[in-house]
Amino acid sequence: MWASLSPMTLPETAATPGHLTAAFIGLGAMGEPMAAQLARHLKAEGGSALVWNRTAGKAEAHAAQHGSVASSLNELARADFIFSCLPTSAEVESFVDQLLPGLRPGTVWIDCTSGRPAAAREQAARLLAAGVGFLDAPVSGGPAGARAGTLAVMVGGDEATFERSRALLGTFGGTVLRVGPVGSGFAVKAVNNVLMGLHLLSVAEGLASLKKQGVDLAPALKVLNAGSGSSFSSQNKISQQVFTRQFAPMFRLGLLAKDAGIALENIQEVQASAPLIAQAAMLLRAAQASVGSDVDHTEAVKWIEAINGVELS
Ligand code: NDP
Repeated sequence: MWASLSPMTLPETAATPGHLTAAFIGLGAMGEPMAAQLARHLKAEGGSALVWNRTAGKAEAHAAQHGSVASSLNELARADFIFSCLPTSAEVESFVDQLLPGLRPGTVWIDCTSGRPAAAREQAARLLAAGVGFLDAPVSGGPAGARAGTLAVMVGGDEATFERSRALLGTFGGTVLRVGPVGSGFAVKAVNNVLMGLHLLSVAEGLASLKKQGVDLAPALKVLNAGSGSSFSSQNKISQQVFTRQFAPMFRLGLLAKDAGIALENIQEVQASAPLIAQAAMLLRAAQASVGSDVDHTEAVKWIEAINGVELS
């Protein structure tokens, strides 16, 4: 069991009432539509959303399209809420290092990266020492869920900081739940994703074996999806991305393998027994090494196809 950070009463935000500002760092596949939801909400409330991206042109395009304000890191540091959505906790840490000296007490940092619980606890402690609150708030539901404002948001942090942040989280989240102290959101997200990866690989294995038995895959998948063996992956990924050979880029395989590795690290930290999850993490890493990191995660299926000498179509 992880010890939670000792709670401290954070000062209320120093924002001028009616001029709430939220900053967003990382306008990738997820961050871009999430920041757009924030910008829309804040504009309607008389506030503003500041955005920053490593490739600056994306921040300028976001401002032109969604009414956010492309800003410097120094300007971002003055915001009431700072959101980050970056590949891993390592990138987030470098921004905490850069921004910490300029942050104001009462600010809340909300990390929507799928990160590591241990890193969240470390970063939260450093921020808390400066009077800054922290929530780990990873999301599930993909770019389409962000655009629809229906993401599942799993939040780790203290109750009061969560309550202060709930309205902003609700701009892109349909299900927004606090799941425990700092680090808990990342822990839940890692389990979510390793399960998704496990389901994806296992349905591909099942279908590859059926193809080798001469079964017609299209009706076989339909009947599986109407039966008790179905999963989110079997229902939403196989006929749409695999049978069509579309593999539309939404969520990089390298990120999924990273999440499965985080799940494994967390399991080892508390000495739980999870042999299926451990195997899924290894299999996803093997698939990543075989088909690449920057392809959509559904391309992991190509590795199952290769070891069976069949194509799932
Ligand atoms: P992307 O690869 O699409 O975007 C990554 C973002 O991080 C970009 O804005 C990129 O900037 C920026 N970035 C990368 N490296 C650095 C760096 N060293 N310094 C500064 N900025 C950097 O990732 P996603 O949006 O897909 O994923 C972001 C997080 O959300 C990940 O943790 C992922 O696991 C998680 N996630 C992803 C989902 C998905 O469906 N895609 C679903 C749920 C969670 P630049 O534009 O300059 O490259």
